[in-house]
Amino acid sequence: MDDRQFRNAMGKFATGVTVIATEVEGEVHGMTANAFMSVSINPKLVVISIGENARILNKIKQSKIFTVNILAADQQELSMIFAGQLKEHREVEFDRLDGKPVTPGAVAQIACEVSAEHVEGDHTLFIGKVTDIHLEDAEPLIFYSGRYRSLTEEKTAAL
Ligand code: FAD
Ligand code: NAD
Repeated sequence: MDDRQFRNAMGKFATGVTVIATEVEGEVHGMTANAFMSVSINPKLVVISIGENARILNKIKQSKIFTVNILAADQQELSMIFAGQLKEHREVEFDRLDGKPVTPGAVAQIACEVSAEHVEGDHTLFIGKVTDIHLEDAEPLIFYSGRYRSLTEEKTAAL
């Protein structure tokens, strides 16, 4: 099985898009990620999966904190900024939630402390204990088959 076939299959799982953010010595670093999952409600735990070559990996190991920012439909450009898909550098403002950096306008901001990390293959899974949450009433950005999408309302046929 080649890598492309694996990616094509994984890309059939429609997801939201998040920006993971952390802070080391006053410097905020963000990275776009769709490998995010709710793990436990009691205690409240989530998991993210970070590639071994991502610069944010060592920053989360150092800071022991991260936030998950679930992007809104109008935040595709932010996703592209934090995936390194835009050529030029853009200044990005961060708010604070529980003292941790979060991106304004996200559908959900989830502040976490690292409670465990597991190296699996070429990624590291970070389990995050959720310390605070902020929600906005907006539609989410969707990623499916390698493309950004948005939700459309289901139309009920008139009888
Ligand atoms: P860098 O290359 O260091 O940073 C990424 C970009 O963010 C750079 O352009 C940088 O300038 C910018 N940036 C960072 N901090 C700031 C700041 N404070 N202000 C302004 N700009 C800043 N990879 C994974 O490991 N796990 C995933 O789950 C995952 N999911 C993805 C989902 C999607 C939809 C996409 C498009 C990519 C995904 N990736 C994932 C790939 C990942 O986003 C890229 O490989 C990323 O560029 C690598 O992160 P890095 O820490 O090395 O980032
Ligand atoms: P793609 O077709 O490469 O990705 C489709 C799906 O494959 C993703 O949603 C993810 O589930 C999986 N995937 C892709 N790369 C992976 C990796 N290195 N490790 C584990 N799973 C991976 O989509 P694309 O639009 O070409 O992606 C843009 C870039 O972002 C690519 O460089 C891709 O590798 C990277 N990306 C990485 C991850 C990840 O590390 N978990 C997830 C999504 C995208």
